[in-house]
Amino acid sequence: MPSDLVIVYHRQPYEEVEEEDGRVTLRENTSPNGIVPTLKSFFGGVDHGAWVAWKLAEDTSNPGFEQVVEIEDSYGRYSVSRLPLSSEQVRQFYHVTSKEAFWPILHSFKERYNYDPVDWPNFREVNWRFAEAAAAEAAKGALVWIHDYNLWLVPGYLRKMRPDLRIAFFHHTPFPSADMFNVLPWRKEIVESLLASDIVGFHIPRYAANFVSVARSLLDVTVEEREPVSADLISEGTALTERTVPSVISHGDHQVTISVAPVGVNVDYIQSRADAPGTLETAARIREDMGDTKLVLSVGRTDYTKGGVQQMQSFERMLEKHPELRGKVRLMHVSVPANRNMTVYAEIQAEIEESAGRINGRFGTLEWQPIALISRAIPFDDLVAYYRAADVAWITPLADGMNLVAKEFVASRTDGDGVLVLSEFAGAAVELSSAVIVNPFSNRSMDEAIASALVMPEEERRARMAPLREAVHRYDIRAWGRSIGDGFESISRTAA
Ligand code: UDP
Repeated sequence: MPSDLVIVYHRQPYEEVEEEDGRVTLRENTSPNGIVPTLKSFFGGVDHGAWVAWKLAEDTSNPGFEQVVEIEDSYGRYSVSRLPLSSEQVRQFYHVTSKEAFWPILHSFKERYNYDPVDWPNFREVNWRFAEAAAAEAAKGALVWIHDYNLWLVPGYLRKMRPDLRIAFFHHTPFPSADMFNVLPWRKEIVESLLASDIVGFHIPRYAANFVSVARSLLDVTVEEREPVSADLISEGTALTERTVPSVISHGDHQVTISVAPVGVNVDYIQSRADAPGTLETAARIREDMGDTKLVLSVGRTDYTKGGVQQMQSFERMLEKHPELRGKVRLMHVSVPANRNMTVYAEIQAEIEESAGRINGRFGTLEWQPIALISRAIPFDDLVAYYRAADVAWITPLADGMNLVAKEFVASRTDGDGVLVLSEFAGAAVELSSAVIVNPFSNRSMDEAIASALVMPEEERRARMAPLREAVHRYDIRAWGRSIGDGFESISRTAA
């Protein structure tokens, strides 16, 4: 059935669960937190929607599953087109090209960029097949909404296949400056593809501005309109703040809207979990077990961009310099390995484990271990209990598109207390200017920030938390949906 809205996102919009009898059933994601439910909610506004994702197949020409299935869940009826990819195709397109070549450049880690193993024809082919699958689902004049850097070539291919479509692209990561992006030898091909979209979206003005400067470095691109950045997204003097942002650019006779929409969290849901009696009981138990020891919480994926090792080093320096804090503070460091099979992540995990082991060995006693390292995902409800129990959330990525953990921590603090220490290199920092903003590349800044957070008087903690909570409300996940929806409407008007 032709669809008016086609979402192209590498992950499937539901969980595949293998039942006891071996049958595979499709279950709606149980948590309303996260991006997938928000994307699916867009299906409510159209007659019929479709979702394109990949699914592993041993033999891609005979995958052993139906490519297109019709789903009915609380979001309505929609098709899901599962593109069969072999494990080698996935490894190449996702784990190698996307994670070893694109990811370090997107996060400005030139030294980690690995060109040699990239199989570019495979990346092109996988993107081409995503474009074909989207074209097969799209009704005439439909809107196709493509997500993230691993599908960078889809807009260009799709435009060639189906000039009638409206094409939107959203980046969930940072977008770097031209000096960094242009390390990629495929830069022009990628940017030409993105410019085939009608709208290209980013979390914050800096990423949008960087994209436009990259495009201008490679092609004749004109900035048609530029807008002042909303005061809500200006965090005075911090690294990612911009004052104006290009909003419409043109390339040849094609215009591209540049949109800025910071992704948020489901504040209502998180608050309801945070205030649930079970959560409050768990949080109270955690606090009781801690006694008068302060709890510093750090949560993130195991990734060099998250700055876990640097953070532990700062914690070590603090214990060195302040013997009076020994026994009085604990760091709970949750580092969730996402890609266990990738060497680079295994290395980071080993470094984190080594640092935690060293610090615990140096300072720990039978009664007190300075660091509790958790190397597995914590269920969201439990995480919320830790957010509630923590004195400080210590979130210091070296680069991060947004950082939802920071926003979840703030959303959980319906009690109005707690300190957020946040890296100025997380996209969230442009909204959360009342956090203790820290530069993770400076030892002094890192050390002073955590020291001041630990002794911050209650009055100041509350005075900072109130505007943080306002900001997290203002840019919650519904606001993101509205902002994206407005962008879609504006491109429909232009196309009409
Ligand atoms: N998360 C979780 N359990 C954990 C650690 C993280 O459920 O043990 C979730 C967390 O609640 C958040 C997401 O993982 O929603 C991480 O998002 P973020 O934007 O902070 O980082 P990303 O991994 O997308 O770079």
